[in-house]
Order: sequence, then C-alpha cells, then structure tokens
Amino acid sequence: MVRFLAEWHLQRVARWLTLFGYPTKVFPKLDERVVSSCRGGGCKVLTTSRRFRSTLDRLKVEYLLLPNSEDWKTQLCLVLRHFDLKPELKLDHCPLCVSPLRPADPDRVKERIPPKSYELGKNFKECPSCGRIYWIGSHKRLMEKTLEGLRRRCRKLFGLTSVGENVYSELNE
Ligand SMILES: [Zn+2]
Repeated sequence: MVRFLAEWHLQRVARWLTLFGYPTKVFPKLDERVVSSCRGGGCKVLTTSRRFRSTLDRLKVEYLLLPNSEDWKTQLCLVLRHFDLKPELKLDHCPLCVSPLRPADPDRVKERIPPKSYELGKNFKECPSCGRIYWIGSHKRLMEKTLEGLRRRCRKLFGLTSVGENVYSELNE
C-alpha cells in the first residue's frame, strides 16, 4: 500500500489521499527524524521545501517536491500523476488519525450517530484510534462533487492524451 508523510500545509492534499486509500500523515514540521521512518520504501514524502531535498536525497527517501501554492487541487493532481494513483473514494482510513477503519454494527453505534444517519446511512465504519464513526450518506455526495472538480482540474493540467490510460481511464467519459 502506498503511504505518505506530508507537510502541515498540505493538509487538504493529505486528507484526500487518505480518502483515496493512500494513508497520509501530516506533520507540523518534517525533519530528518520524522522522514527517516520512510527509509526502505515504507512511505513517501510530500514537501514544498526545496531546502529539504538534500536531506531526503541523503536518506534515500522517495519524495515529491510540490509547488508551494494555495492550490491544493493542482498539488493533488501532481501527486496522483507522479505516483500513478487512482482518485477513487475508498474511505477505508480515518481522515483524522489515518488509522484503518473497521466495519461497525449500526445497532452498536446507534447512540453515537444522528438518528437520521442511523436510518439512512450505509456501510458504517469505526476508527479504532479516535472512535469516530463514518458512514455513507449525504456527505459522500458532497465528496463526489469535489472529486469531479478535481478530475476536471487534472484533465485540464495534463490533457486527455498525455495521461496514462490505466490511471485516468475513468475520466474519459
Ligand atoms: Zn480516527
């Protein structure tokens, strides 16, 4: 499984990568100690710091240097293309603590979710670390809308002809 460590201000990129099934932890400051855990291919590093490159090269940690902009969609498209990842909602990791989610019996978690969600929600999952409950409901539709915007952006950036068929075939509607 592809995992990432990312800088604090790449939080939105990290959150979406986690939703896509590529768990991404953010750190207030990426330093040598933190990124050392990625040695040997355990994870890859996402950074905007040019200065940090020499450290990553020396540690032989795989990384991607992203443009330092507020434009998280462009940053995310660059990550998807570079590592050949699919922008599909997997929703199998907690976006907050990046732990793998476990299926949850709706009756057991009934007290912890709104009644309407209990009634209409599907596919309940629980985070074993923070205890948050997730489910497929209205929220997912919102996410899919954002995802459409992201796919449009990736198409605009890379064009339909230049992107790998295996990665973006679902975009060629
Ligand atoms: Zn959690």
